[in-house]
Amino acid sequence: MGVSRCLLGDPVRYDGDHKRQPWLDETLGAWCRLVPVCPEVEAGLGLPREPMRLEGPPDAPRLLTLHTRRDLTAPLLAWREQRLAQLANEGLRGFVLKSRSPSCGAAGVALHPDAEGASEPVGTGLFAQALRQRFPLLPLEEEERLRDPPWRENFVERLHVLDRWLALTTRDGSAAGLVGFHADHKFLIMAHGAPLMRALGRLAARGGSPPLAEYGATLMAGLAALPTLRAHVDVLRHLAGFLKNRLPPSDKAALREGIEGYRQQRLPRSVPLALLHDALRRFPHPYLARQWYLRPPAEE
Ligand code: SF4
Repeated sequence: MGVSRCLLGDPVRYDGDHKRQPWLDETLGAWCRLVPVCPEVEAGLGLPREPMRLEGPPDAPRLLTLHTRRDLTAPLLAWREQRLAQLANEGLRGFVLKSRSPSCGAAGVALHPDAEGASEPVGTGLFAQALRQRFPLLPLEEEERLRDPPWRENFVERLHVLDRWLALTTRDGSAAGLVGFHADHKFLIMAHGAPLMRALGRLAARGGSPPLAEYGATLMAGLAALPTLRAHVDVLRHLAGFLKNRLPPSDKAALREGIEGYRQQRLPRSVPLALLHDALRRFPHPYLARQWYLRPPAEE
């Protein structure tokens, strides 16, 4: 996983400071190989250095120093091409970017129309912009949004889904491989909404040569939206439906109550999930056993 280097505690910011997020190196770092990148230091812009800002139109902003107004766009762009080529060999599954940085910010970076005009939060950092174009499937998140547990869970889910998707397309790009992948992710996809489920279902069922590029792009774009409570409840009810003829009445009632408690926000989703896991341990169901929705990433 790529990470803006200052988020790992390296003192590479313009003022020689850092913005360490312990969750990244302590928790996620135990599961991922981290690839630190600092565009401004790697492009030779110095340390410490004068702060910078973005200026110009949103589609072609320039990187200027704040006080001396030196234009550092060219060295940053020259470094960027070379570094993106290296990153293509790193096997990245995601990237965590520093918010609001004129180099790393993924969205909402202050953009000035010219030397005088007031900024609008409509810019994208020069590195982040190219990263998104070069690796369109790659989950990109800023550290600020990852402080929010639902977004953090969503990001980790996308890292894992992309890893499985790339493993599949490298190993087995057949129509049968795509149908199997879709079947195993059915409920995980359904949690992101019925329209996504329908769109991917149509692609998976299309005959002839499998539309892998279209499926992968639709999948990763769709998973970037947070699942809704209603969609999770639908999924949980569907899953419970598979077990209704196997469970004793008291277990069925407990599962129903767990799902209802989650729907009313009295209980966390982990409660009905734990009840489902318990039921599946006692009454194994091969189809549900393959569902990634029921096999979330590690607790941490
Ligand atoms: S935000 Fe990006 S360019 Fe700025 S210090 Fe952090 S890693 Fe370097």
